[in-house]
Amino acid sequence: MTEQIFCAGCGIPIQTEDKQAIGYAPPSALKRDVVICQRCFRLKHYNEVPDISLSDDAFIQLLQSIGETEALVINLVDIFDFNGSWIPGLHRFVGHNDVLLVGNKADVLPHSTNPDKLKNWMHQASRELGLRPLDIFLISAETGMGIDELASAIEDYRKGKDVYIVGATNVGKSTFINKLIDTLGGEQHLKLTTSQFPGTTLNFIGIPLDDGRSLYDTPGIINHHQMAHYIDYDELKTITPKKEIKPKVYQLNEKQTLFFGGLARIDYMGSGRRSLICYVSNALYIHRTKQENADRLYAEQIGEMLVPPHDKTVDLELVQHDFSLKQENMDVVFSGLGWISVKGHGAQIRAYAPKGVRVSVRPSII
Ligand code: GDP
Repeated sequence: MTEQIFCAGCGIPIQTEDKQAIGYAPPSALKRDVVICQRCFRLKHYNEVPDISLSDDAFIQLLQSIGETEALVINLVDIFDFNGSWIPGLHRFVGHNDVLLVGNKADVLPHSTNPDKLKNWMHQASRELGLRPLDIFLISAETGMGIDELASAIEDYRKGKDVYIVGATNVGKSTFINKLIDTLGGEQHLKLTTSQFPGTTLNFIGIPLDDGRSLYDTPGIINHHQMAHYIDYDELKTITPKKEIKPKVYQLNEKQTLFFGGLARIDYMGSGRRSLICYVSNALYIHRTKQENADRLYAEQIGEMLVPPHDKTVDLELVQHDFSLKQENMDVVFSGLGWISVKGHGAQIRAYAPKGVRVSVRPSII
């Protein structure tokens, strides 16, 4: 049996198989006298925190350990996919610790978005999910929008405690932490520290705060119901908005259908004529047709005109979800794909999404 090697930076057992998993080092690195994992290597040389993911069990064990510490928790969500990027059961894991809820990727929201309305909705949605955040922020880790304000709020709210950053994969956690390192460290090279999560074998790298405390990154949990798990990397790029979403307005008559590539479909059942405003990636093709033609069109055009997916043979097993929208102005949300704002009240909507992808409704956020 070969001897287990531990990372000289964070102490994690080194493995050479899975690049995305914790403790990875390329096989060539094992020949060196001092072995460090890829994550520590990138941190040390580039001041950059790369992505890593953990199995669900390891992640849950890690989250539970946060509840046993005295800390401020920063919960990062993707504002474009709020429910899809929510960590189930987070309120139980954080225990008595305060949580700041941070909506990332605010740069993709249309300028017409009312930030207060959005924050109010985030507040309500998180309460329904069992979490009572102390405060809510909207940021863009990519553009730096809102980062300074958040950094000073973290300083105020942590009251001398450590800070843990949690989030599902793809919410932009690495981008955020790297931006925060820039904000906190400026030009100088930060001396990063390591710490062990209580009750786990995992060591974590911390960004030092000025009072000897640290801000800890945690690996992202993979949420299996995100659209991202049903398509490949290039297709994901098509459906993930990169810049400000330009809403597309459709005036629909009863029994008309909109396809979103081949990934989702909305049938407007009635009543009357009304507007549906689509907030999806500008690069996603939307096709309008009559409901009576929709099944045939889908069967013929999936992977051809209706892309993504580009694979004609893939069976996404579209599942039907019926909604009766009693309230005025509601959003039908396809987890990871965006949302369709339905104007007026009393609309009957039939939505289709791949099996496992969540479809939900909420009061319009714009
Ligand atoms: P992680 O898995 O949570 O660490 O996420 P990453 O930091 O790797 O980001 C996931 C994807 O989201 C990448 O394609 C990023 O470019 C993108 N991203 C991260 N932050 C932002 C942001 O503020 N705005 C936009 N538009 N995209 C972002």
